[in-house]
Amino acid sequence: MPSRASGNDAARTAAGPDVPARNGDISFWMAPFADTPAGPALDGDLEADVAIVGAGYTGLWTAYYLAERDPSLRIVVLEQHRVGYGASGRNGGWLTNSITGGHDGYAAKHGVEAVRGFQNELNATVDEVLAVCAREGIDAEAVKGGSLLVARNEAQRRRIATYVAHAEKWPEEGVVELSAAESRARVNVADTRGGLWQPHCARIHPAKLAVGLADAVRRRGVTVYEGARVTEIAVGQARTERGTVRARHVLRATEGFTTRLPGAKRDWLPLNSSMIITEPLSDAMWADIGWQGFETLEDLSHVYAYAQRTPDGRIAIGGRGTPYRWASGFDTDGLTDRATWSSLTALVREWFPAIAEVPIAHTWSGVLGVPRNWRATVQYDAVTGLGAAGGYVGTGVTATNLAGRTLADLVTGADTPITRLPWVGQRTRKWEPEPLRWLATRVIYGAYRYADRAEFRGLTRTSRVARIADVISGR
Ligand SMILES: Cc1cc2nc3c(=O)[nH]c(=O)nc-3n(C[C@H](O)[C@H](O)[C@H](O)COP(=O)(O)OP(=O)(O)OC[C@H]3O[C@@H](n4cnc5c(N)ncnc54)[C@H](O)[C@@H]3O)c2cc1C
Repeated sequence: MPSRASGNDAARTAAGPDVPARNGDISFWMAPFADTPAGPALDGDLEADVAIVGAGYTGLWTAYYLAERDPSLRIVVLEQHRVGYGASGRNGGWLTNSITGGHDGYAAKHGVEAVRGFQNELNATVDEVLAVCAREGIDAEAVKGGSLLVARNEAQRRRIATYVAHAEKWPEEGVVELSAAESRARVNVADTRGGLWQPHCARIHPAKLAVGLADAVRRRGVTVYEGARVTEIAVGQARTERGTVRARHVLRATEGFTTRLPGAKRDWLPLNSSMIITEPLSDAMWADIGWQGFETLEDLSHVYAYAQRTPDGRIAIGGRGTPYRWASGFDTDGLTDRATWSSLTALVREWFPAIAEVPIAHTWSGVLGVPRNWRATVQYDAVTGLGAAGGYVGTGVTATNLAGRTLADLVTGADTPITRLPWVGQRTRKWEPEPLRWLATRVIYGAYRYADRAEFRGLTRTSRVARIADVISGR
């Protein structure tokens, strides 16, 4: 691994050693693409067969599989800024097999076998993304090392039993229990008391996947318009300030930004998630930490945090932050407040005390789409030709591929096993109006923070406050 870098030293010295050298500017992952020339701008009205709104993974995967299924289709993607501007260019890079919203809710409605099928599809989807990357020459720097979940206090250790019981019920997920020593042998996280590992996960470079995928769809004849903000979606058309695209099928892939579209304000809550990334660690630090398998990493805190090791020897970690802003407002370009980046900095140094002096290279934030029931969905109405996919909360990197394949099947009229998965056609009620939405989110996150503090101070069982917050949030 490279030794610790000294780039940005002047900026950091001026701001103090703990201040990230860069804040916002979309994300660390998107920085290499800042100077890439923009795609064509929409200039006037046009006709197409399929108009897709949003050039994140959902929109791009949908375009990719549609073009594969029927190369004669005229497909356009309309992106308000640049490819990968949203969560797809900013995420934690966990290409993992999660069912958003969990197994049990789906099982109650659709039966156990349907959920087993869903889980198997998501496991296979991790490999499908890796296979397309190989086929299309997309270097997403993928390393499939599985995913490690670590318990760092007694209450967390006791929660492992709940996960083991869940794993016995849903063996397709592939989760196995690890002793403290086995967990530390993978990644030496301070205070580790036990762990869980599952194999269906790869770390990736998020923006390289998004940008590489956009190139792949362009090679298949799809036009990706950038700087084309859609102001309204209606049957047969997507309107922008610079022209209207008329199409038999109009598919919405706008995730956390959906709230800005007319009629969709309370559909998906735009929840923020924030990240920091360190400068590269020294070889000695890596010798202490291990992490040779490039597992994605999280702990069992109620306030969720997720991390990965990058191939150039950095640690990227995300989570804690200002989760939600009044009236679904959110920052643009990823600017992140001090409380958030300092909390993430403290956390990564708690996990790995040896890196206390390693500077933080960059911090940024992005927005997730959260449905009221916390379950993602793929929707398509064959009569109107309107469709949508999203609501992945923090688990869309893999699910967007399955959603894109499913939308492609639905639009082309193919009745396949994936068009019958439990998330297809699923609807949920709208979020509460303000000020309830803002208040509830603050109370819930305050409760999770309180519960984590109590457990780290010695509470040996899961805090009741966290259980109540789970019930209120519907998580
Ligand atoms: C910080 C962070 C960390 C995350 N970590 C992980 C992780 O490790 N693993 C995981 O599985 N998931 C993670 N997620 C979630 C994951 O990134 C998303 O679920 C996924 O990228 C969603 O892809 P998408 O294409 O649906 O949405 P987005 O990537 O948000 O794309 C939507 C696109 O639509 C465009 N758009 C919006 N409105 C309009 C409009 N009106 N007109 C035109 N274009 C419009 C936007 O500019 C954007 O480019 C994370 C998210 C964040 C923010």
